[in-house]
Amino acid sequence: MIPYGKQSIDQADIDAVLNVLQSDWLTQGSKVPAFEDAVASYCKAEHGVAVNSATSALHIACLALDVGSNDIVWTSPISFVASANCALYCGAKIDFVDIDLNTGNMSVFELEKKLLLAEQNNCLPKVVIPVHLAGQSCDMQAIHQLATKYDFKIIEDASHAIGAKYLDKPVGNCEFSDICVFSFHPVKIITSAEGGMAVTNDDNLAKHLKRLRSHGITSDKSEMTDASHGPWYYQQIELGFNYRMTDLHAALGLSQLTKVDEFVKQRHHLAKIYDTHLDLNLVRPLQKIYTCYSAYHLYIIQLNNSDTTRHKNAVTQLRAAGIIGHVHYIPIHLQPYYQALGFKVGDFPNAEKYYQGAITLPLHPSLKEQEVHFVLNTLQQILN
Ligand SMILES: *Cc1c(COP(=O)(O)O)cnc(C)c1O
Repeated sequence: MIPYGKQSIDQADIDAVLNVLQSDWLTQGSKVPAFEDAVASYCKAEHGVAVNSATSALHIACLALDVGSNDIVWTSPISFVASANCALYCGAKIDFVDIDLNTGNMSVFELEKKLLLAEQNNCLPKVVIPVHLAGQSCDMQAIHQLATKYDFKIIEDASHAIGAKYLDKPVGNCEFSDICVFSFHPVKIITSAEGGMAVTNDDNLAKHLKRLRSHGITSDKSEMTDASHGPWYYQQIELGFNYRMTDLHAALGLSQLTKVDEFVKQRHHLAKIYDTHLDLNLVRPLQKIYTCYSAYHLYIIQLNNSDTTRHKNAVTQLRAAGIIGHVHYIPIHLQPYYQALGFKVGDFPNAEKYYQGAITLPLHPSLKEQEVHFVLNTLQQILN
């Protein structure tokens, strides 16, 4: 079977993890801060805060931006459920902004329309979470302008997008956001097995994120309520979690990071083969925006004239041929849990239309060129 995504692990990665296993520190050693500094420096942000998943990073990012039970958070309905769940963890309300059908990303037009309405009804969001679908950045400059006008904060869900660029600068530099979150799950661009990171340029946010990932505990005297009892002393000053990344995971992440540009380049090379050979009478790829260099986490196509049956048959027949076609994503608002919150079919028509035609074709750095051609030929046969 040809998977839609897969990690690429080499001997250097293995050695890096073995070295940590043989060292004194399996967790809370030097590898975590080294990985944080390396990611922050790679994407030109001031601080990195490593955690055990992007889901955890999104959760503490919301908390650090003070999202609570009286607040509203908006994200894209075409994302993994974690992009929305993080708001609910904080007791906040979640709502969605419909997508641009050409890119699958949050539509700035829909965002502005919804903000105007929300202003009149006094229910503006505290935080908006744009998701860089498939590794292509959202229009962050435009979203940032709206954030200034309507006074909301921005968390970029860049789980797909380490190694991507926006306006020639690395995604994660936080020029147009407060916090940016990466995932290092094995299907993503680089992996630490499980793992994630929040990057930010704000000193206080970084400090707060670090406290939240480790029980809300501080060893910083300036944050304590009274004098130290001695060298062992620490204080818990708020409710945090154990969301820490281990040194084993950080060592793998560090080793993988040295290959991120190479991985993304190979993803582009393979995507180009799809681009060149796809039959545009049958399918079309997501539109590429000239201000973006995608990390190409996913290669997503849309079936022309799709309906539920045609869509289901196409993915089923791909799988029968040994190709794991996938669908990214089922609109979050249509998940039973979200429908029970009051969302319903018809709420976000572009997202629903997109879902009916979306297929993710295999794309990862160790995919062979002849496998790409096999996928193309099989797809052509199925759709004709
Ligand atoms: C993978 C993913 C996440 C969650 O990442 P984990 O590291 O598995 O928690 C969140 N958002 C998006 C868009 C993702 O693709």
